[in-house]
Parts: sequence; structure tokens; C-alpha cells
Amino acid sequence: MRPSLLDPLFAPVTTLDGVGPKLAGLLKTLLLPSGSDAALRVRDLLLHLPSSVVDRRQRGEIAMAPEGGIVTLTVRIDRHQAPGRASTMPYRVFAQDETGEIALTYFRAQSGWMEKLLPVGETMVVSGRVEWFNGRPQMVHPDFVCSLEEAETLPLVEPVYPLTAGLSAKVLRKAIAASLAEVPVLAEWIDPAIVAKHSFPPFKTALDRLHAPEDALAIDPLGAPWRRLAYDEFLAGQLALALARQKVKKARGRPLKGDGSRTKRVIAALPFTLTEGQAQAIAEIEADMADGERMLRLLQGDVGAGKTVVALMAMARAAEAGAQSALLAPTEILARQHAQGLAAYAEAAGLHMTLLTGRDTGRTRTEKLAAIAEGRTDIVVGTHALFQDAVEYHDLGLVVVDEQHRFGVHQRLSLTAKGRTPDLLVMTATPIPRTLVLAAFGDMDVSKLQGKPAGRKPITTVAVPMERLSEIVARAGKAMDDGDKLYWVCPLVEESEKSDLMAAEERHRQLAGIFGDRVGLVHGRMTGEEKDAAMADFKSGRTRIIVATTVIEVGVDVPDATIIVIEHAERFGLSQLHQLRGRVGRGSKPSSCVLLYRAPLGETAKARIAVMRETEDGFRIAEEDLKLRGEGDLLGTKQSGLPGFRVARVEVHGDLLETARDDARLVLTRDPELETPRGEALRTLLYLFGRDDAIRLLRAG
Ligand code: ADP
Ligand code: MG
Repeated sequence: MRPSLLDPLFAPVTTLDGVGPKLAGLLKTLLLPSGSDAALRVRDLLLHLPSSVVDRRQRGEIAMAPEGGIVTLTVRIDRHQAPGRASTMPYRVFAQDETGEIALTYFRAQSGWMEKLLPVGETMVVSGRVEWFNGRPQMVHPDFVCSLEEAETLPLVEPVYPLTAGLSAKVLRKAIAASLAEVPVLAEWIDPAIVAKHSFPPFKTALDRLHAPEDALAIDPLGAPWRRLAYDEFLAGQLALALARQKVKKARGRPLKGDGSRTKRVIAALPFTLTEGQAQAIAEIEADMADGERMLRLLQGDVGAGKTVVALMAMARAAEAGAQSALLAPTEILARQHAQGLAAYAEAAGLHMTLLTGRDTGRTRTEKLAAIAEGRTDIVVGTHALFQDAVEYHDLGLVVVDEQHRFGVHQRLSLTAKGRTPDLLVMTATPIPRTLVLAAFGDMDVSKLQGKPAGRKPITTVAVPMERLSEIVARAGKAMDDGDKLYWVCPLVEESEKSDLMAAEERHRQLAGIFGDRVGLVHGRMTGEEKDAAMADFKSGRTRIIVATTVIEVGVDVPDATIIVIEHAERFGLSQLHQLRGRVGRGSKPSSCVLLYRAPLGETAKARIAVMRETEDGFRIAEEDLKLRGEGDLLGTKQSGLPGFRVARVEVHGDLLETARDDARLVLTRDPELETPRGEALRTLLYLFGRDDAIRLLRAG
């Protein structure tokens, strides 16, 4: 149950003075992800922090007022100029200081009211935006007007918030000020030593300082108030993850030990030797599996680093111990590809494998389900269909999740609900910086596959403007004649999948007009069978160019494809470009990547392309990506349902993550059920940052 102390913060925003349904709608557009059906709460407003301040304390002079700038002036009111009755002219009040004269301009003003507001002969403080017109300054509807004495007490520093269309700054400011008045004094949930070390103000004080700033410094993301809230958000996240981990670990795993009978045969069947990194990851995984604690391990490795073999070795080990494994891929294409790629080795090692996808129906499906339920199959490969209720495992001991960034945290936890607390190995091809691993996975053990298998040729990356398209097409033709295979990736159009598709279809038509049936097409609107057929044609060489939307982004393996052309490269994020480029450079021939862009390039696009040309190191690229665009997209939060951060910014506050992780862990060793006073306070924190689903993990079994 949510502490009743928090009720005012969880009330709908319409309970605030001056916030009606219309304004609430605008605020929702501003603050909640589009399409969200959640009610907008007072809490959501509170966590919307200012991006800058307007400081009206600095007094200016009329003659020096910059065009378009906001200034605060001390002026003597000289005369009023009221328009005639029928006139559409504005009401003007002329005022001056030592340096000159300014017109204060009001539309539809009423004389009596104006004369009271700006009495002739008085010295007043006015603040607002100054415009120069024909050498004369004017201020249209000053933001405020007050007497000299009042100016001493008025809040002259105003927070400025990010806005949305139709929402006025003033209205938003008032709504947030109203929400601020609702914040109760809450018991401190942060460890006192950490509070002291970082000089964190209390939660309520931090909000006060940010929403009613005394100066520009007060809203600096590096300042104590903002860092305090960032820490709160990290702590809530880390505590939720730690609670999940505590629950998973409490359900003790079982040792999965093997005699090497299967794993040795897998190694013998491989046409290559394992890299050092692979051998080490396998050793780490085997050690995890062998002990009685449940494995929660993340296998990080760049595209093409060779994660699949590592997974196979783990699954072979599970089979040696008599347990089944499930290998879960995000798409059917990938599930199929894994099954194909593993088939030969699995067979050589005497492992029985079943591919189960949504496409299996009727008798085939029944037969496959029976094989799984009766333990006749060792390895099950598939999509999330593997975790539908109908799928019963004989004895599921290991779950491997590939390309995990497409799955959400909860989905991931639910995977392990089948079987007797199976071990969990998560493989990710997005090289996630260490700080983000913490943010997204909390306390998972990590194995890293550094480097690529030996013999890989570097990929030459060039950037070419769209004007030189015909040149690239000609070169593609030549490459095909030399026996090369090419990917041709078409622009990502965010708003509509349809135009995405149209671009790909159009390019396909054009290229097919030149190269005939050597050109294939694959896109997201195709059925699974159609996609497979298109990829199979490309793999076998029946087609030599495949025009694709970004459906090829994840994991597709055609080792003899050597060129990738990415159209409108400026529209892709850095990680995505890197993923796409990783489709080539997998075979023995040198490969290249052509980034086709439309000039002129923006600063960020320029920087991205420079990084792409400079390095192939996925971890470096991930770090650069983080710098260039913040953490949200990098984790693929949009697809995965991972919560993004509201106030914390990993690139600014990342140093606090580790502290939050350690603190969360420490709390749970001392107070596993969150029952002490601090534990109670921490529950409040979980609610505040929307991580209260973790509270259900307490006691609940
Ligand atoms: P990813 O990490 O992207 O999943 P894969 O497991 O698909 O990478 O491996 C990419 C390619 O590299 C595959 O064709 C695989 O057979 C090959 N490969 C994997 N390990 C090695 C190795 N040690 N030496 C040579 N080639 C390897
Ligand atoms: Mg892979």
C-alpha cells in the first residue's frame, strides 16, 4: 500500500488550483510518453525540472537593452498614450531612464487600469523582452511591473521549463508552483554518510531549490539539488533491481555440472579455434552453472564477436548435466538463423535441437511440444513463443536470451519462471558502457567478449554525399561482377513505417531496373516466410544485392557479404550505424561501408560519421553515442519498455550509479524486507519514482 503521506503527490494534476482538463491534456503531452493511458499526477509535474532561469535581478539600461533580450529596467513613467475609442492601435506608456526612452506597449488595455498600474511620475521596475523598431525600443506586455520596494521582495529569478506547443511558460510555471506546495516533508531514505559526503539537501528542499531557484547555479545539473534527485532516481532503480535479484537468488539454483562429453565434441566440430575471450567467457559461465547459486550473467560482445558459440557451449554443458536449455531470439529470422547455424555443431555433439516459432501449427507444433515436454530435446530455439503457457519443459535448466536489448526487465524475469529456477545468460550485441549496464541490469555478473575472432579484416568506412549516388550504383555493379554481395539499407523514417517501406521499394525498383533479378528486397511488412525466402536467396547468392529496411539490423549473418551501403546515414543513431556495419566484415575478404548522406550535415550527424570512420570498437562507439544523445535511445528503451530516467542523466550523473548500487545492496543485506524506518522511507522512494512494482517482490514468495 502506498503511504497516505504521498496521496497529494499521486492525485491527478486537475486537483491543483488552476489546472483544468484542457491544461491537464497539454501537460500530459509534455510529460508522459505519447499514447500513455496513465493519469498525469502531481508527482509528474514535480519531476519536470527547469532547463534554465531568467534572472531579472540584473538591472539594465534602456539604451543598452539588447534586441530580443529580457531585461529589467528601472524607469520613470513619463506619459500615457491611449488609442482612440475605435482605434486598433495599442495603448502605449512612455518611460525613461538616464539613457533613453522606451515604450511599454499593451493591446486591448483599459485606461483606468493602466493608470493605476503605471502612475505617471512614479519610478517603477519593469521586466520583459525588448524589441527595437526604427531605432526605438519597446517592451510589449512586460512580464511584470512593480514598485521599487516590491522589487526587493519579488522572486526575480524565474525557472524556465521545456514546453510543448500550446502551453504557455507562465501557466506551466504556476502549475508547477502549485504542485510544489503539495510536497510533504518525507523521512530521509538516503544513507546519512552519503548525504553528508555529497552535501545533499533533503528531498523537499531539493525540489524547492530547483523550482524556485535563487540563481542560475541552483538549477545546474551538477549542483547538489539536482544531483540529489538523480541519486534518488538511481537508488530507486537499483533498489528495484536488487529486490528482483534477491528474489531470483533466493530461489536457489542447482549445480549444473558436466563431464565434458558434449562440450568437447562441440569444440572438435568447430572449424575454428575459440578466441581467448570466448574461452574465458565459457569458463566463467561454467563456473556459475556449476555452483548452487543461480546464474545471472550478461555476455557482452560486439557484433560478430562470436557470442553464439559461447551460448552453445553453455547449452552443451547443461545437457551434460541432464538439463534442457532454451535459446530465445527477438525475431523469427534470428531464431531460424541460430537454429541453422547451430545445427551442425549440435548434431556433432549429439544434442537434439528443436526450433519452435509462432509459425509452427497443428501436428508439427504438437509433436515439437511433446518432444520438449518429454525431454527428448536438449535445446529449444525460438522467439518469446517459448514462454507461452502451452510450452512445458521436461527440465529447463538454462535460459539464454540473445540480443536482449529488445526485451524488458519484467519480461526477462518472467523467462525464468519456467522450470526449476533455471540459470540465465543474457547476450547483448549493443556494447553498453559500464554505467549503463548498472542502470539497466543492476547487479548482473558480466562477461565481456573483447575483440573479434582472428582473421577478421578491418572495414573501410567512407562517407559520400547523395549527389554521388550514381557513382555508388556503378561501383556496386562492378563489385557484383567481381562476385561480391551487398546490403543496401534504406532510410529510417521515424514517423511512418510506410514511407520507410516506400523508400526501400523505390530503391529496389531502381536497382532492379539496372541489375535485374540479382536484386532482392526485405522489409518489416513482409511475412516471416517472405523474409526468410529473401534472406535465403541472398545467402545462397541467387540475389547479390539485398535492399533492406532496418530489419537486418539485428544479428543477421551472411559471412560473404562485403559491402554495406547505408542511405541517409545522417538519420541513424551511432549504435545503429555500428550494428548495421557489423553485417559485413564477417568473412575473409576485406569489407567496406558506404555512408550515403544528404548534405548539409548537422553537427551531431557530422560527429557520428566522424566516429564511424575513426573506429570499429563498439565499446568506444557506445561511449561516444552516450555523449552525443543521452542514454535513452542507446538502451533501446523505446522497444524494450525499460524505464528511462526522469531527472537523472547518465552522462552527467553516472558517477552516482555505483554508489546507488552499493547502497541498495547494503540496505538489503541489513533489511531484506524493508521493515526498518529507513526501509519504510525507501518504500516511499520506490513509489515516488514509479518503481513500486518491486515492492510486490517482498514477502510475496
Ligand atoms: P555475434 O557475437 O554477433 O552473435 P556470431 O556468434 O554470430 O557473432 O559470430 C559471427 C561469426 O563469427 C560466425 O560466422 C561464427 O561462426 C564466427 N566465429 C565465431 N567464433 C569464431 C572464432 N573463434 N574464430 C573464427 N570465427 C568465429
Ligand atoms: Mg548474435
